[in-house]
Amino acid sequence: MSDIIRLLPDSVANQIAAGEVIQRPASVIKELVENSVDAGASIIKIYIKDAGRTLIQVVDNGKGMSETDARMAFERHATSKINVADDLFRLTTMGFRGEALPSICAVSQIDIRTRTPESPIGTRLLINGSRVETQEADVCDAGTNIMVKNLFFNVPARRKFLKTDSVENSNILREFERLALVNNNIHLSIDLGSRVLDLRPASFKNRITDIWKNALDLHLLPVDIDTAIVKVEGYISRPEYARRRNPLQYLIVNGRNMRHPYFHKAIVSCYDSLIASDTQPCYFLKFTVDPSSIDVNIHPTKNEIKFENEQEIFAILRAAIKASLAKNGAVPSIDFNTDILPVKPLHKGEIPERPKLTLSQSYNPFSSAGNNFPKSDSQIKDKPANIDNWDKLYSEFMTGSRGFGDKKIEIEKKEALQSSLPGMNFTDKIGSLCIQHASRYLVTSVSEGLIIIHQRRAHIKILYEKFIDRFKRSEKTVQSLMFPELIDFDPEHFEVFTNIEKDLTGFGFVFEKKNDVIKVTGIPGYVDNLNVKSLLTDIVDAVLEGSIDMKKGLDKEMPLYDGLAISMARSLAISNNQKLSADEMEHIVSELFSLPDPMYGPNGKRIFFTLEDSRIENALN
Ligand code: ADP
Ligand code: MG
Repeated sequence: MSDIIRLLPDSVANQIAAGEVIQRPASVIKELVENSVDAGASIIKIYIKDAGRTLIQVVDNGKGMSETDARMAFERHATSKINVADDLFRLTTMGFRGEALPSICAVSQIDIRTRTPESPIGTRLLINGSRVETQEADVCDAGTNIMVKNLFFNVPARRKFLKTDSVENSNILREFERLALVNNNIHLSIDLGSRVLDLRPASFKNRITDIWKNALDLHLLPVDIDTAIVKVEGYISRPEYARRRNPLQYLIVNGRNMRHPYFHKAIVSCYDSLIASDTQPCYFLKFTVDPSSIDVNIHPTKNEIKFENEQEIFAILRAAIKASLAKNGAVPSIDFNTDILPVKPLHKGEIPERPKLTLSQSYNPFSSAGNNFPKSDSQIKDKPANIDNWDKLYSEFMTGSRGFGDKKIEIEKKEALQSSLPGMNFTDKIGSLCIQHASRYLVTSVSEGLIIIHQRRAHIKILYEKFIDRFKRSEKTVQSLMFPELIDFDPEHFEVFTNIEKDLTGFGFVFEKKNDVIKVTGIPGYVDNLNVKSLLTDIVDAVLEGSIDMKKGLDKEMPLYDGLAISMARSLAISNNQKLSADEMEHIVSELFSLPDPMYGPNGKRIFFTLEDSRIENALN
């Protein structure tokens, strides 16, 4: 048999490498901007057309390239940044693998103009899918101006793989935010066609707020620790501002963004018991370490790093975060009930303040005019479950104005109940004997055993079905908000919001937009007590995260259908530690079991389970 092994031509090898380094337009932007940063640029401008499909252009005022270097830069493994293998452990540049430009040119058409400040004339190079078409002298500004056109034009499978413009644009924005955060001293701008962002050089903190607007300004706590192995500085969010979705979490090591699950754990674990378990804090932390103590070369896109002193840094990081939380009063100083101790600790040299007393001089306990104590039960305001009001209160729950769904006829419910849980025999009105455990579970007895219900999930399910029902009936009523809500999304969220705005108005939301601020002036008529801001942030987050798939709604006309119903239900449902009265419990339980599929919530989470008598008996045997 003749020999069959051949060396791949460079153009093919480059295309294969491109598969690793260049996944989408955002990865091109990362590589090009990092090259500009390495070239010492102080101004970097990015222009995007069609979410990067047609054009990605990066213009910098860096050190440029000579005629020969410009050509060499597109060869495989061509780099000016390292000479010998040992240099890998002394890295101060973003790039070093000499892979980005050859990979990009293998899957696009390149038009690059570059000039070094010393040279009077620059060079222009056109490359088409790894093949150099022309190179000629060019009168251009000092620095580099590179255009990447028609990305993946020669790899149809990859081009098809690209997501919708709004998803790719939001990936681009996310990458831009990362680059902007790391390079806060550089003037960076991006023009996406639909929007422009221009970030002037700023302190790290100001860069954070420039990117994510004012939303974070007041809530960031500084972190600052300097040890022999690592210096950590930056900001973390106060526990109250932990986010359920898309927390902003950035770790930067020697000017490089990275993922590090172990350090992430160190940070998040400091918030244990301070935040709800389904939320996460935001953090923006910069590490400075000796370049020889890390290995950046463990991943082609270089966003994972191996540390020599991982465990020590873990401990240092935890100490720094805990100190910051404690110093800024974000951690209760005493673990048990702090409410009874509203006294500020005194610092050395401070003089205690005399308590202020306000007395009503005219108060006479014996005169009826001065006596403000309630005489009878009916004078007590806000009394719990006042019998007089109870019927009204209960009927409010039943009619749903307090969020517990529509009134149904009891018999109907019992029938539905029987059919939805075949094999179970409900002798009594279900839920009539119900206790609440740990303020979050409802326990009720049926003839087969005990049913244990997750109260919040149950309520979400009830509300969700109710909203879906309304949507199906195409009920669109609008209630105007007396106090319109202003929402100031960051660029990424704003972009997504713009895309779903029309769908939302279809459900009864009314918006006005001025500059980048959204004013909500109306919401659907059938929801009360809606936290509009958190609801809309929730929906936009869900779209961004992909958990609401805009292409896969229940109804093609209204792709938000399902996602909106879930978000509204979550926003309105009772919390996990809400004490419920006997009637509220009964209501939830009977509503739940009148639904066709009470076992699972809209997000697929289990709502209840049954502890059968046989299991109880076995356990007690
Ligand atoms: P790496 O960054 O890993 O060295 P690249 O393929 O990204 O590899 O770039 C190859 C070389 O091209 C770089 O080492 C650098 O010398 C040169 N280069 C790339 N972009 C620029 C730029 N914007 N300005 C000046 N030189 C550049
Ligand atoms: Mg590079």
